[in-house]
Amino acid sequence: MDMPNPNLIRETSLRHLGDARLLREFAYLGGKWQAADDGSVIAVTNPATGAVVGHVPMMAEAETRRAIEAAEKAFPAWRRLLPQDRAARLRAWYEAIMASREDLALIMTLEQGKPLAEARGEIDYAAGFVEWFAEEAKRLNGEVIAGHLPGRSMSVRREPIGVVAAVTPWNFPTAMITRKAAAAMAAGCPVIVRPASETPFSALALAELAERAGIPAGVFSVLTGSRAIVGELCANPAVRAISFTGSTDVGRILLRQSADTVKRMAMELGGHAPFILFPDFDLDEGVTGALAAKFQTSGQDCLAANRIFVHADIYKAFLERFAEAIGELNVGNGLDPDTDIGPLMNESAVAKCEAHVRDALAKGARLIRGGRRHRQGPLFFEPTLIADVTPEMAISYEETFGPVAAVMRFGDEAELVERMNHPEYGLMAYLYTNDHNRICRLTDALEFGMVAVNCVKVTGAPVPFGGVKQSGLGREGGRWGLDEFTEFKYVCAAYRAA
Ligand code: NAP
Repeated sequence: MDMPNPNLIRETSLRHLGDARLLREFAYLGGKWQAADDGSVIAVTNPATGAVVGHVPMMAEAETRRAIEAAEKAFPAWRRLLPQDRAARLRAWYEAIMASREDLALIMTLEQGKPLAEARGEIDYAAGFVEWFAEEAKRLNGEVIAGHLPGRSMSVRREPIGVVAAVTPWNFPTAMITRKAAAAMAAGCPVIVRPASETPFSALALAELAERAGIPAGVFSVLTGSRAIVGELCANPAVRAISFTGSTDVGRILLRQSADTVKRMAMELGGHAPFILFPDFDLDEGVTGALAAKFQTSGQDCLAANRIFVHADIYKAFLERFAEAIGELNVGNGLDPDTDIGPLMNESAVAKCEAHVRDALAKGARLIRGGRRHRQGPLFFEPTLIADVTPEMAISYEETFGPVAAVMRFGDEAELVERMNHPEYGLMAYLYTNDHNRICRLTDALEFGMVAVNCVKVTGAPVPFGGVKQSGLGREGGRWGLDEFTEFKYVCAAYRAA
């Protein structure tokens, strides 16, 4: 049994929490705060300093089965609640989240490492889904069909699918939960969340606020601990839908583990976004766009531009200005207001950046800036720029998930079209050009679930987020976000003519 190690340094910035009860060191299931059955715990550390933020229960199958039973028990009453009443509870949750914005952002920065300003932005983004789906709860209308049979009244209702499990990653510890949970709860489903082990406190704070907002016991549970939790959620027939955000490799594992219980699978998986810049676009604005598309969330973003395609006519000038802009990025602890780039999540993330740089240089790329671990600490990596990247380099086809910008030159549109799509990934693409005809041609040809034209920030509660190919199945957000958590019921009633 693991017990807290008193020799590890304890995070001192927790004293800045206005509401200390938001940092919960128990899991929340069936409306109760609980330890693991065997009392074991996992330590959660701050990637910037290595200090221990706290401990959470190391739960496994038995606790998961109890959470599923609690969710099944909560389901009938929650689905029968008037949509207006479900909406009111979700609205109260939204308000509680917004009222705790500063504390939630601090918890996120301490466990995830992202700059505080980005953490605040994520809380707004995350709360936006709760607000949006509170409204959508009231609009889950069915349809009356213009029938093909005489004397029949035909309609289609939308019903909640049942118990939903959400398995989420560490890079957006709050938003990846609310984007799923708020939609499922609005549709009338209870939700069990299994957050990433590196960032459980953001999830547990959401549970604390859900409890305060009057979300009934069993409707929103958070289980922390081993991956056996995920195995049980996949294998248990009472769980009717799994909504997963994470890597494509792990998505495949969950699809396999769920096959025997044939459930709805919503998958938000990896990306490998191209960023495309044509010479007709303002170069400085293009540089600003590339900087944001590559370096937000310190590069640990499924939407991060992994391949920056720049037209030959502006290639040299772009590299000069991009290198300058990258040189101005401050690397540091996310609590420092000047920080642009925080630590990476773990050692393997840093090792992957090193491996991608090494591989590219060995195959003929040019290192223009950075390329090494940063002196700030073991999990920091220098914002890096490599040029002359070619398709055979690993960075051209694998997700880097770190602050390494890979720039490649293209000559004309035909050459670009050959290279811009990816055989496996199709989440987000960024296109920068002012030529209307080119925008129309290329948005058609880009095989991605989302295309951002002349901008980077495009996501939010009202729009469908998701990828094609092996970047995912289904969409989150907007009115489409409810589809994963509802079933259609077709009712055909015979009637006699008067
Ligand atoms: P990950 O390794 O796939 O982990 C995601 C979740 O799955 C975590 O909760 C993790 O738990 C769990 N998990 C990992 N291996 C498992 C296994 N063998 N069995 C059961 N559960 C398992 O992804 P990540 O490193 O956290 O996040 C980065 C990835 O997420 C990137 O590929 C990124 O592109 C993708 N992402 C996609 C989106 C999107 O919306 N499309 C958004 C954000 C991130 P542990 O914490 O215990 O490992």
